[in-house]
Amino acid sequence: MQQDIDAAVQGVDAYWQTHWSEFFTGTYSSPTVYGEYDSASAVDPQCRGKPPLANNAFYCWLPEDFIAWDIHLMENGYAAGDVYVYFIIAHEWGHAVQARLDVRLRDIALELQADCIAGAELNGAAQDGTILFEEGDADELGQAIKSTADAFPWNKATDHGDVNQRISYFNRGWQGGISACLPQSSVRGN
Ligand SMILES: [Zn+2]
Repeated sequence: MQQDIDAAVQGVDAYWQTHWSEFFTGTYSSPTVYGEYDSASAVDPQCRGKPPLANNAFYCWLPEDFIAWDIHLMENGYAAGDVYVYFIIAHEWGHAVQARLDVRLRDIALELQADCIAGAELNGAAQDGTILFEEGDADELGQAIKSTADAFPWNKATDHGDVNQRISYFNRGWQGGISACLPQSSVRGN
């Protein structure tokens, strides 16, 4: 599993190192990857002074700027399909990207936009040859997204969206790339 986690981190980071300037101004900087914590005992990493939650993965917003995940969340998801860890890392990386964007480029539905960015990153990395997907991974991706969806539709900022919404945003990014994930009225150049 650690190999897949490393491949996901390196592939997504490489995607942004290569492509950031195609979409955004400024220079890309990688978020810190804190990595795993064990929810059975962890008080770290703290985000805004709060200990990490069990069964969670999260991005701690700038200025902390790090990504971390409960090892148990990853192990459980990985047991159902190795592509799970790619989705989780790409989604959290999506939040790190949002934190670097002008506020007008952030979708009000931050979690769904993070799914869209995740799709764009993963397919972009696949196109670059830095992440290799295998047959059956598309189905596994669908399962991974399903297992992380809310049981109700998106309604407020903290919602993740129901399974149809999450898959729809992920596919939008996978097919349309990063531009498809930005609020249309504020795409650069308009
Ligand atoms: Zn999220």
